[in-house]
Amino acid sequence: MSNIIAIVGRPNVGKSTLFNRLTESRKAIVDDFSGVTRDRHYGSAEWTNRQFTVIDTGGYVANSEDVFEAAIREQVVIAIEEATVLLFMVDVTTGITDLDDEIAQLLRRSKKPVFIVVNKVDNTQLQNEAAVFYGFGLGEIYPISSMTGSGTGDLLDEVIAHFEDIPEEENALPKITIVGRPNVGKSSLINALIGKERNIVTPIAGTTRDSIHIHYNQFGHEFMFIDTAGLRKKTKVKENIEFYSVMRTIKALEEADVVILMVDATEGLESQDVNIFHLAEKNKKGIVILVNKWDLIEKDNKTVKAFEDQIRHKLQPFTDVPIVFTSVITKQRIFQAIETALEVHKNRGKKIPTSKLNDVMLPIIEKYPPPALKGKYIKVKYITQISGTSPMFAFFCNLPQYIKEPYKRFIENKLRENFDFSGVPIQIYFRQK
Ligand code: GDP
Ligand code: GDP
Repeated sequence: MSNIIAIVGRPNVGKSTLFNRLTESRKAIVDDFSGVTRDRHYGSAEWTNRQFTVIDTGGYVANSEDVFEAAIREQVVIAIEEATVLLFMVDVTTGITDLDDEIAQLLRRSKKPVFIVVNKVDNTQLQNEAAVFYGFGLGEIYPISSMTGSGTGDLLDEVIAHFEDIPEEENALPKITIVGRPNVGKSSLINALIGKERNIVTPIAGTTRDSIHIHYNQFGHEFMFIDTAGLRKKTKVKENIEFYSVMRTIKALEEADVVILMVDATEGLESQDVNIFHLAEKNKKGIVILVNKWDLIEKDNKTVKAFEDQIRHKLQPFTDVPIVFTSVITKQRIFQAIETALEVHKNRGKKIPTSKLNDVMLPIIEKYPPPALKGKYIKVKYITQISGTSPMFAFFCNLPQYIKEPYKRFIENKLRENFDFSGVPIQIYFRQK
């Protein structure tokens, strides 16, 4: 399921303010645990239990006068191709500007839904002034204030009604994608695994088409690669190369079951990688980390451990993720990488029988019960795994509202110690019984 909201519009209309508002909770979590400095223009958001990805296009344009109008125009074109829904943001305090008009012209050709979001409508007086934006001829307008949040709920109700719901195919092959920054070795890995076959499926440069699915069926393993690495195209404006590649990465990631996040051993895990990791985690995808170009690292018997510790520290709190050290050049562990990804896929679909779950977890909970609150004791009665594409567990108890985050994390750790969920985000719910 791939639902991406792109916020487009000229500078200073309030795109990043809205972006921050929509992705707020996520940001707080990332900040709390990893202390990574973020330069983040895409992120995960949720509205009425629908999860989606938001991208703030403005973050990708440098503010140098000569390129930016062209860059913005090109971004709009890319966003029309790649996003599910476009939010065209304008500013009620300035009315329609020339650049607004140009963007509107491009958007008129979009087959994707476009929402005109009139921002900075901070009070009812400004509501009336928002009406000038009907002048675009693009349909309904949505007055909001990104600063206060007013109007954003009505907007999102409409937006999610336009999402695509692609049902999960049953018994379909595992879908694996390789993501990572440019030059980490993604194409080399796919070439090493697929060989010449890939050249047949790679489309002509400059053509648009969705991520390519490559059927892998060798050495007893069968799965689909979702390949974006081979698609390097199309941006005339240098500033948009990153924007484009981020869009493709997000799409591939949302389509995949397992995400192989490839990093360069000589550079380590950077904040961009951590962002991708959290996006995969939030999307409940299986994750494997490959530390590639391992041939370039001088090693002693402590090197692997040191790398692992450093990486896991940055991934907190979700650290139960396999890390494989590869060299595509020397073919070191490249099949192990694939086997690990398939192992993670299996973990993601794992169902623990209720009796086993209760036999293992109830004694642990009895020994380490949730802390009593206001003199009330919390009693967990039974546990069951809820069916879904990724592991979810319901703990039925008398006072679920009294369970705090640290206890949930304790329970998650115990589940991971007793059942192998390596590489897989798991959800834990405490429910009334
Ligand atoms: P971007 O360049 O489109 O990403 O715009 P920003 O999000 O950086 O916002 C530009 C300016 O508009 C900042 O000074 C914001 O504080 C301000 N701004 C954003 N949203 C609102 C709003 O809803 N009301 C008002 N009054 N100001 C806003
Ligand atoms: P991509 O942009 O992630 O698809 O990266 P490429 O596959 O194009 O690789 C970028 C460069 O890194 C190429 O010159 C590769 O030959 C080189 N490279 C890829 N994997 C390795 C590796 O394991 N070791 C070394 N030393 N170089 C590698």
